[in-house]
Amino acid sequence: MEEGFKKLLDEAVRLHGHLCSGQVVGVRMAVAGLRELGIKDPKGEEGRDLVIFVEIDRCPVDAIIAVTGRTPGRRSIKMMDYGKQAATFVDTGTSRAVRVSVRTGYLERAGEMAKNLGNFADEKLAQLEALALMPEEELLSIRRVRVAMRRRDLPGETLEIAVCQECGETVKDMRQVGGSGKVLCRPCGLGDCYYEEIERDCNG
Ligand SMILES: [Zn+2]
Ligand SMILES: [Zn+2]
Repeated sequence: MEEGFKKLLDEAVRLHGHLCSGQVVGVRMAVAGLRELGIKDPKGEEGRDLVIFVEIDRCPVDAIIAVTGRTPGRRSIKMMDYGKQAATFVDTGTSRAVRVSVRTGYLERAGEMAKNLGNFADEKLAQLEALALMPEEELLSIRRVRVAMRRRDLPGETLEIAVCQECGETVKDMRQVGGSGKVLCRPCGLGDCYYEEIERDCNG
């Protein structure tokens, strides 16, 4: 694989903890998305307005984070739980956006390609090399899309802080829900909660 690509892949592997096909694919997704938006230095000033929606919570996400320098904590990586190997790169300054998705059957095609690459220590390494070298149009589908960014989702100052009238916890950035004349957090207002409380004040 090409030198510049290898450098990006190394960074991804450092963050992710292992080398896998997801790292190669994630780096390729990030490279494609950045190129389409004309961003050469995402970690510098140029990338300031970049927000990325990722549609899966698996390996490629870490590669996308490593290459672009975007993070969930800075609100510039949005996790969409679709289970799809796809990501949308949005320049919130210009509103330009591209969705990059991985084509089905790519691993089989990489496997075929790998057979002709020769001199690799093992099959896995040959397949990773094939994934890195595969023509982009065979690996990725790229579409121009429009993303309606809500102000409350953008990086920057906290817009509003509410206090839930049921549990008393603070809710930032307009995630509270109304109804019944009360200000409530989502768990209290919608019963939309991922945990069940079994003990309180464990530290006191
Ligand atoms: Zn992985
Ligand atoms: Zn609450």
